[in-house]
Amino acid sequence: MTFETIKNDEQQYMVHAYGRFPVALVSGKGATAVDVDGQEYIDFTSGIGVNSLGYCDAGWTKAVSEQAATLQHISNLYYSPLQTEVSKTLCGLSGMQKVFLCNSGAEANECAIKIARKYSFDKYGGSRQKIVTLENSFHGRTVTTLAATGQDVFHNYFFPFTEGFVFAKANDIADLQAKLTDDVCAVFMELIQGEGGVMPLSKAFVEAAAALCREKDILLMVDEVQTGIARTGHFFCYQGYGIQPDVVTAAKGLGGGLPIGACLCGEKTADVMTPGTHGTTFGGNPIACAAAKEVLSRVSTEAFLQEVSEKGAYIREKLMTIGNVKEARGQGMMIGIVTEKDNAKEMAGKCLANGLLILTAKNLLRLLPPLTITYEEIDKGLAILKKTMEA
Ligand SMILES: *Cc1c(COP(=O)(O)O)cnc(C)c1O
Repeated sequence: MTFETIKNDEQQYMVHAYGRFPVALVSGKGATAVDVDGQEYIDFTSGIGVNSLGYCDAGWTKAVSEQAATLQHISNLYYSPLQTEVSKTLCGLSGMQKVFLCNSGAEANECAIKIARKYSFDKYGGSRQKIVTLENSFHGRTVTTLAATGQDVFHNYFFPFTEGFVFAKANDIADLQAKLTDDVCAVFMELIQGEGGVMPLSKAFVEAAAALCREKDILLMVDEVQTGIARTGHFFCYQGYGIQPDVVTAAKGLGGGLPIGACLCGEKTADVMTPGTHGTTFGGNPIACAAAKEVLSRVSTEAFLQEVSEKGAYIREKLMTIGNVKEARGQGMMIGIVTEKDNAKEMAGKCLANGLLILTAKNLLRLLPPLTITYEEIDKGLAILKKTMEA
């Protein structure tokens, strides 16, 4: 099959929800992807922060294929030792108490939103149902998570959106305080806004938010769908801020390439959901859990987290030596590059032509490499980026 055939069939048979780069990927190893013509690419994207262990890692492949040959799916009407093991591990690594397993980031966030509203409904009746999120945030593509997303471009076409979301300015304590009225049940935020352009929240803002929430019995909920599972050099990004949220959501990197999401609950929220109030057919699927179990066992050690921080620092330092790079920001291996010429989209296309897969976010180039990327692969990728940026 040729790229042209694949492209034509995509045009004819697939819903045009994506603007795609002109390449069809068919295999991969480590941080190298291979297209249908056999051309290799260094991958600084890991499928948008999903392939934590890179392509077809030996341990991950073994865990997944053995599970596929053992038990591929059971309903959540039955117990699953893989679900309980993954949940127990997530609690141990996070200081959270209970986990709901689902299939994606948006679903984990839907679960968080339902938990916030039910917590408040159970305790206060119907008077406190609003949720404060931040301007420039991203929380997903379902109607409710779009409503929760603090960017006007996402509030189109699909009316009516779910009511009850209020947006506060990131890093503006006074604005947040003003938005925390008596009808608010939760604050929900990313600690580094990923799709919003790798924008970190300040420690002072996050600490103030945590203190205000505690004082008013408002739930503090953190969307770690992109920042979680070792991406920032902490297992969860909030651990670097020294806070303990009431709800944490995760997905992207959790399964290392298989769809799995998780909504983690703390002391206040652990028993909010009861039988019949929430559910999913696929959530906690045994193969996805086997994948997550392998990912968690690999990325959660102190040595691994330290290495993620070091590789991230190395990349950011090297980036600053490349012409037309104005700023390299982020934490661990979640990195945003501000270019002098403000031409990230165009650059990403040129990088592809030169053998490098790279993301954009707003007007930034964005890197979310597999956490296991080697220094050799990093150097290869950076050399392509340099050549492209300085051309
Ligand atoms: C990607 C992302 C989501 C949505 O996750 P899906 O798995 O695409 O539903 C939600 N929140 C954040 C912060 C994300 O980066």
